[in-house]
Amino acid sequence: MADGSIKKMGEVARRTLATPALADRTILLVDDDPANIQHVREGLASHGYRFREAHDGTEALRSLREVRPDLIIMDVEMPRLGGVEVCRIIKANGGEGGFGFIPVILVTARQAAGKVEGLELGADDYLVKPFDMLELSARVKSMLRLKALQDAVVEKNRELDNKNRELDKANKELAQKREELLALTRVDALTGLYNRRYFEERLTEEFVRSTRYRSPLSLVMMDIDHFKKLNDTYGHPFGDEVLRQVARTIKGKLREVDFVARYGGEEMIALLPETGPKEAFGACERVREAIASLQLEYRNQDGSRQLVRCTASLGVASVPSKRLPVMEELLRVADVCLYEAKAAGRNCVRQYQDESPE
Ligand code: GH3
Ligand code: MG
Ligand code: MG
Ligand code: MG
Repeated sequence: MADGSIKKMGEVARRTLATPALADRTILLVDDDPANIQHVREGLASHGYRFREAHDGTEALRSLREVRPDLIIMDVEMPRLGGVEVCRIIKANGGEGGFGFIPVILVTARQAAGKVEGLELGADDYLVKPFDMLELSARVKSMLRLKALQDAVVEKNRELDNKNRELDKANKELAQKREELLALTRVDALTGLYNRRYFEERLTEEFVRSTRYRSPLSLVMMDIDHFKKLNDTYGHPFGDEVLRQVARTIKGKLREVDFVARYGGEEMIALLPETGPKEAFGACERVREAIASLQLEYRNQDGSRQLVRCTASLGVASVPSKRLPVMEELLRVADVCLYEAKAAGRNCVRQYQDESPE
C-alpha cells in the first residue's frame, strides 16, 4: 500500500473516530444473521457506542420504544418483516408522539438497483454488503451527528414553545395589571367613587353624545351642609366616614348607568344620561332625602354612641338647551343652582329653569 493511501486511511480513521458527544449513543443493530451483527459490532467497537440487537423486523419494532436508539443499522433481507418494510413503518411514525426522528442505515447484499428503492422508502443511508468498515464508520458518525442536531432542534423548539407560553402568560398578567392601574387612576381612594378627572372625561363624551342625538342629559352637583362643623365637632376621621356613607347613599339612589364622582372635598357630582329635567329633579329629591335620613353613628370617648345627622344641598341642570351650548355652561349653571340651594337654607334641591328648552 502506498504511503499516501495509508496516510489517507489514517485521516479517515481519525475523522471517523467518535467525538465524546457521540460516544455514548445507542445503535440498534437489526440482522437475522448473528455473524453480520458481530461483524458490525467489531468494526465499530473502538468508538464507544452502545449496541442493542434485534434479530428480525418484529423484534426491532418491539424494542424501538424501549431502547430509543440514536441510529438503526438494519439488514434489508430478513424473513417475514424485511428491513425496507420496518424502515417504512419507523418513518411513518416519526412524529413527536411516535418514535421521533431515528436515522436508519439499510444494509443489503443486493446490488445498486435496490439502493434507490431503499432511499425512496425513507432510509437515511444505504450500504451494500460487503462494505468497508471505514465507510460504515463514517456514515454512522454522520448519521449520529444528524440525529444529535435533530434532537437539539426539537429541544430548542420545545424551549421556545415554553418561553412563548410564559411570555403569553406574562403579557396577560401585564394587561390585567394595566387595567387595574387604569381603574385606580379613575377612582377616588376615600369614597370609591370616580374622581374628578375621569368624571370630566366622561362628561365630555356624554355631552357630545347628548348634543349629537338630542338625548337628555342631567348634571347634579351636591355639597354636604356645614361639613366643616361636622369635622370640627367629631373629628376628621368621622368626617371621612360621613363622606363614605354619603357616597354610598348617592350611588344607592341613582341608577347603574348614572355616573357618580367625588368632585372636591365634600362635593359630589353625578351625570344622569337619558334623563330629562323632571326625572332628574325626582332623583335629586330621592338622594337628598336619603342623605337626610342617614343615621351616622359616632362613638364618644366614654364609649357611648351618638347618632349624628347630616344634610346636603343639590343643584341640577339638564341639556339639551339652547342656553347651554357647551359643557362648561352646564357645569356652571348646576353650580349656581347648588349655591342657590345653600342660600335658600340648605337641605334642598334647586334646578336650572330653562326658559327656552329645545
Ligand atoms: P356649606 O354648607 O356652606 O357647604 O358649609 P361647609 O362647612 O360644608 O363648607 P366648607 O367648604 O366651608 O367646608 C368644607 C369642609 O370639608 C372643609 C374641609 O376641611 C372638609 N373636607 C374636605 N375634604 C375632606 C376630606 O376628605 N375629609 C374630611 N373629613 N373633611 C374634608
Ligand atoms: Mg362649602
Ligand atoms: Mg359643604
Ligand atoms: Mg364644599
